[in-house]
Amino acid sequence: MRPEAVAAMTAELGAVGNPSSLHASGRRARRVVEESREAIASVLGVSAGDVVFTSGGTEADNLAVKGLYRARRSADSGRTRVLASAVEHHAVLDPVEHLGATEGAEVEWLEVDHLGRVRTDLLEKRLVGDPSSVALVTVMWANNEVGTTQPIAEVAALCAEHGVPLHSDAVQALGQLDVDASTVDSLAVSGHKVGGPHGVGALVLKRGLTLEPLLHGGGQERDVRSGTLDAPSIAGFAAAVLASESDRAVRTARVRRLRDDLVARIVADIEGVTRNGDPHDNLPGIAHLSFDGCAGDALLLLLDAAGVECSRGSACSAGVPRPSHVLLAMGLDPATAMGSLRFSLGHTSQQSDVDRLLEVLPGAVARARRAGPSR
Ligand code: PLP
Repeated sequence: MRPEAVAAMTAELGAVGNPSSLHASGRRARRVVEESREAIASVLGVSAGDVVFTSGGTEADNLAVKGLYRARRSADSGRTRVLASAVEHHAVLDPVEHLGATEGAEVEWLEVDHLGRVRTDLLEKRLVGDPSSVALVTVMWANNEVGTTQPIAEVAALCAEHGVPLHSDAVQALGQLDVDASTVDSLAVSGHKVGGPHGVGALVLKRGLTLEPLLHGGGQERDVRSGTLDAPSIAGFAAAVLASESDRAVRTARVRRLRDDLVARIVADIEGVTRNGDPHDNLPGIAHLSFDGCAGDALLLLLDAAGVECSRGSACSAGVPRPSHVLLAMGLDPATAMGSLRFSLGHTSQQSDVDRLLEVLPGAVARARRAGPSR
């Protein structure tokens, strides 16, 4: 966590008061929550009343996808189609699939190009035919695996033209890119991606848009999300959002330089390495690479043993590694997808970290290649 977030959160942890209580302690806690809401709203370019606090990005995405679908469907039983980009995070992908499996949603996965960008020409084709049958479109702001930024302004314009609500998962984008939440109908953000605490996030929901809540209870957060508000986490989240916005330009330029250096040196030093994702419109701290002829998992463990921590490009379900749906949607073959890794840089990353990776990577790749690709 960023020090500003630790300070704001720890200052609240010892304080008494439920933000929904009317007594003085409650009112004090409420003030913390409302000031935090205003801070987050101002960074996102919306009014404070649009921000609904949640337990994180996963809950915000579930609330938007299920809540908007159910509300739209119950108002108009003909609105059954859900259009979702094929490269969404599981926090969107799985609720969409759930609606398809259990609630009659007709799910259409929006194609992406080889860089992972949603094909807006194909989205338009899907919308023009029968927009009144579409309950929801969901396209993330930037991809968590390969870092590609989506053409969200174009997607938003198409959705607005056809009167269809657009949800965007901006969990990875906040703190890295200029995120104007007023351009979409709902937007998910998360504390721990901006140097705030885990377990807190928000859904930005345009006023006037109704959704069915996931949680029923005390009616907090405009009745959209019941549950006692976690004032310390919310204070930490807001402090992190403000801090990451105030140093965003300088920090992301520095991280981008480090990342570009990392990619250029790896591609120059090691044969059979391909960079994935959009090389121009992307998150500054993500480098996603495919290594020919080796298993990503083996390489990851070899690097971990050498003190370099990275992530694989594949999801693991029930202990069985599978190629990433993102890479497959971009047209990579399963073997290449399984030989891919994501290297992430953040505000604490230094040139020495990149140098260390370059020291150990050639040997690790050679060893992983001797062991062969995933079977
Ligand atoms: N969406 C994206 C794009 C993410 O990268 C993540 C987390 O990795 C999430 C959603 C889930 O957010 P949270 O961990 O706050 O539930």
